[in-house]
Amino acid sequence: MILVTGGAGYIGSHTIKALLARGYRVVALDNLSTGRREFVLCEDFVEADLLDRHALEKVFRDYPIRSVIHFAAKTAVGESVENPEIYYYNNVVGTLNLLSAMRTHGVKEIVFSSSAAVYGDPESLPIPEDHPKRPKSPYGRTKLMMEEILADYARAYGMGYVALRYFNAAGSDPEGVIGEWHDPETHLIPIVLEAALGLRDHVEIFGTDYNTPDGTCIRDFIHVVDLAEAHVLALERLREGAASPAYNLGTGVGHSVREVIETCERVTGREIPVVEGPRRPGDPPALVADPTRARRELGWEPCFASLEEIVATAWRWMLRRHGRG
Ligand code: UDP
Repeated sequence: MILVTGGAGYIGSHTIKALLARGYRVVALDNLSTGRREFVLCEDFVEADLLDRHALEKVFRDYPIRSVIHFAAKTAVGESVENPEIYYYNNVVGTLNLLSAMRTHGVKEIVFSSSAAVYGDPESLPIPEDHPKRPKSPYGRTKLMMEEILADYARAYGMGYVALRYFNAAGSDPEGVIGEWHDPETHLIPIVLEAALGLRDHVEIFGTDYNTPDGTCIRDFIHVVDLAEAHVLALERLREGAASPAYNLGTGVGHSVREVIETCERVTGREIPVVEGPRRPGDPPALVADPTRARRELGWEPCFASLEEIVATAWRWMLRRHGRG
């Protein structure tokens, strides 16, 4: 059985759907602080916090867990700057508790949800896995610390792990069963689509004076279903004992904020009002993955290769969620 922490969240819930489709048995754990209970598609669900060591112990006692996929974490960069303590507790201490329960119960396989935020401002593009790691926020630092903890546990205790470094997760389950739902929403594509739907007056572009072709930031958007698939492949590779410590998950193609807005206008057929604002502190000008290692070693190939396709699934979900689909 596979324990998925953060199984009610955006990427966790899509990964559970992918695992179930492959016939894996899954138990989800989530404290429901940001996740949604109805997104958990497996039967077994435990509402618990990683800071609750007793609850965690019980999960490992109650279920025959062989592997863990660990998503549960606080993920808002801005909030991590304002309140680092909750990030270090939830993310780092929570992970230590999880690893400790795994050790007690002899569980030795973990796929870890990491982030491109571990790299900080890139020195060159696209970014390979061995690029220097200089995270710019407490959030990014927690992700890097957790990777380092896993490396130490692997050396000392024979823990098998893989860290998956996501670039910009986007899109939603094409079947419309689950989708992206953050409250408050801070991510570009859902914000632009909410403006298309009339739920916001406009989209504010955070910075138009970057040293990029159109002056706005560039990001590598990767479909959440492709991310979910990568977790299944990484777990299988880990079980074969042949996984690398980390893989970048992105398409290798960057799109600017303006391009995203234009694509959303094309997909929705609606005009989206835009306001040009100042830069958002901490944003690197461009982040684009070099996903060669995941392609080569995991045989991973994104199915949603174009931004249009990604936005189209996000739009279908947005319409459905707001009762317009
Ligand atoms: N962005 C923007 N307006 C918004 C939200 C985001 O211009 O309302 C920009 C943001 O500055 C960044 C890009 O869109 O350059 C992607 O931001 P998001 O928060 O979606 O993901 P991040 O790259 O921070 O993980």
